[in-house]
Amino acid sequence: MESNFDLVIFGGTGDLALRKLYPALFLADCDGRLHPQGRIIAAARQTLDADAFRAKVGEALQRFVPKVSGDSAAAQTARDACLSRFLDRLTYFSLDVNDGTQFQSLKKSLDERDSKTIFYLSVGPALFTAIINGLKLAGLNTAETRIVLEKPLGHDLASSRAINALVLDAFADSQVYRIDHYLGKETVQNLLALRFGNTLLEPLWNRTWVRDVQITIAETVGVETRGEFYDGTGAFRDMVQNHLLNLLCITAMEPPSSHDPDSVRDEKLRVLRSLKPWSQDTLRENIVRGQYRAGSMAGVPAVAYTTEEGVAAGSDTETYVALRTEILNWRWAGVPFYLRTGKRMAERKAEVVISFKSPPHSIFDSPLAPNRLVITLQPEENVRLYTMAKAPGDGMRLREVHLDLDFKEFFLGRRQDAYERLLLDVLRGNATLFMRRDEADEAWRWCQPVLDSWEQDGTPPLSYAAGSWGPAASSRLTAMAGTAWHEELGI
Ligand code: NAD
Repeated sequence: MESNFDLVIFGGTGDLALRKLYPALFLADCDGRLHPQGRIIAAARQTLDADAFRAKVGEALQRFVPKVSGDSAAAQTARDACLSRFLDRLTYFSLDVNDGTQFQSLKKSLDERDSKTIFYLSVGPALFTAIINGLKLAGLNTAETRIVLEKPLGHDLASSRAINALVLDAFADSQVYRIDHYLGKETVQNLLALRFGNTLLEPLWNRTWVRDVQITIAETVGVETRGEFYDGTGAFRDMVQNHLLNLLCITAMEPPSSHDPDSVRDEKLRVLRSLKPWSQDTLRENIVRGQYRAGSMAGVPAVAYTTEEGVAAGSDTETYVALRTEILNWRWAGVPFYLRTGKRMAERKAEVVISFKSPPHSIFDSPLAPNRLVITLQPEENVRLYTMAKAPGDGMRLREVHLDLDFKEFFLGRRQDAYERLLLDVLRGNATLFMRRDEADEAWRWCQPVLDSWEQDGTPPLSYAAGSWGPAASSRLTAMAGTAWHEELGI
């Protein structure tokens, strides 16, 4: 049985809450996964009464919740019943978090109930200090509470440490849930299942058999309505420091001794600690930094980054990063790990590609493409294994074929969204998929020399056309090791 809860969402009228959090909670409610008495309390600056707030959430659910599949009248009736139950859970609390006294009234409304309280900080990091101090001052930081922090958790190593020091002054680390929604994706969970629920891959999962690993998060969108935020952040802070490093950790970590949160997070931390430290040479040669210029997205003209709304004219913020690193341990020494992310890319995809070494000797005339295991997180979630097979007909001609594990076909039914899984984990107190303080710290520690070198160097990012795969220099990065990016192999 799920336990009773009060979920307080600071920033509960914001874009993230409306687009992701309420839809995720609504679907969890429809599946009977929320305690019947659980409450969701939005705390935000606007003056709204409860009805106006519920109407706002109702509209957001209309827009952002996928429609029921098929048009069965029974399914629609069940949805409607669920909608009214869900809206009844919502209350609205208007406050300016900069006014510490208002936390006392919030406390009064929470004190009346015997339930677990979760504070979700769905606000910019500039408000974290005020909220955490307000909670502390009002005595709301009891051992029974949990606090969820949205990214970005700092701008650099020093500011991330400052946020951690602040939150850990009021809460124990076991109460703190640092969200990286990539970790909530079904395929990331499946990567764990694939690696540690089977014996097949483990003997191959090392430097003897793996040639290289590529992890890509490519977006076709530009900065949309978040130009100002993005211009102060850039692709490296926005994607590499958190999502890409987390995917790298899950891919490369040693088998944990159990699935409990600390066993998994201890192994992830070991990977971060084994990342090759940057040197002057690797900072110069192993990172490509780019920014999109005007181009075309599927035939539609797209403007340059520097003319996007909210972006400073002449900005040298990067919208693309590709880098090569290594993991200095016995399993991985010498295997290149390529991380890459960009906006306005040719295609939207997030994938992990493990390329295996070629057979040591070929008895065939046909060239042999290396085997590849491709774990796709976006837009579809599937796992595909590329192997060589004989093409039908005369002679011995080999062709590449792929074996697919398409989760949609195999596992019928609704797929949980990453935020839904993570919110349910917070309600249940399962922290496996959240970053511990030491992980966040180690990730920033590895990233900081890159940020410092860019600041000192002052060289502007390389330009690439919107709708392309990034600057040409990124192909040189893989070519140095005699390989190529996955899409360049023409698969
Ligand atoms: P937003 O600007 O849409 O919403 C901000 C919210 O904070 C609003 O509800 C506003 O009322 C509230 N707020 C602002 N000042 C306040 C104050 N003084 N007192 C009380 N409430 C106040 O922002 P968002 O896009 O929802 O993003 C929230 C956080 O989540 C940011 O840190 C963002 O970087 C992060 N994030 C957002 C997304 C996204 O897709 N929007 C994705 C990942 C992470």
